[in-house]
Amino acid sequence: MIKLERAAKPSILYDNQEKWQQALDLAITKYGSYSAIPPKEKESLVSHYRNALIKEALFESTGEKCAFCECKPGEGGNIEVEHFKPKSLYPKLTFDWANLLPSCRKCNGSKSDHDTGLSPIINPYDTDPESVFYYDDIRILPISKNKLAENTITVCGLNSVRLMRPRAEILVSLHDFSDAIRTALEDYASCTTNLQKSNRSRRIAESVERIELLAKQSERYSGYCKKYLEKCDPYNAAKQLISDVNL
Ligand SMILES: [Zn+2]
Repeated sequence: MIKLERAAKPSILYDNQEKWQQALDLAITKYGSYSAIPPKEKESLVSHYRNALIKEALFESTGEKCAFCECKPGEGGNIEVEHFKPKSLYPKLTFDWANLLPSCRKCNGSKSDHDTGLSPIINPYDTDPESVFYYDDIRILPISKNKLAENTITVCGLNSVRLMRPRAEILVSLHDFSDAIRTALEDYASCTTNLQKSNRSRRIAESVERIELLAKQSERYSGYCKKYLEKCDPYNAAKQLISDVNL
């Protein structure tokens, strides 16, 4: 999970939010509650939140990834528009831009109608997940037993097998690239001429670029890769060397 920047509210919401909400409110009054609205009528009243322009703005802000688990479409089911506070419990927030985020089917299903108003979890548009999570091998864990982080892990199933498996696969690549950097650094240390050093330092820079690609914001599970790099000694030594030789 990584910090996300909320995009500007789409114009279709500016133009229609009030009208859509009023129609939904009328139905709630007519039938007595949100849950009492007949399913077909409810679907036609609420489906606007999945409008293509709303989806586009949301999905763009995450690089087409799930806001919670950072999977790409296909891994956790399609990415859907999710209500942070469930519309079944907070119908007034059905078309509220700040209540919408893109979520995969797995996270959406796991979260279901969990009441985030009563028992909050992290909204990555509002809270920086990096300040409350760390990784132990392939598991995500709360820093200092942070309650919000603990709750998010449980509610979204962030340590389920479907997420630990790709983390394990990525970890193999990260270890591989890290070993390549370590070897390149050792080669550099044994160089005796400036020309050799210059050639070797270029190789180090290329290895660093390769490993950094995995942690790019647009890549799947980039938060996991980023945290790995923070603690990766060969990578940090290579960054220092690159900065020293001004590559
Ligand atoms: Zn997800």
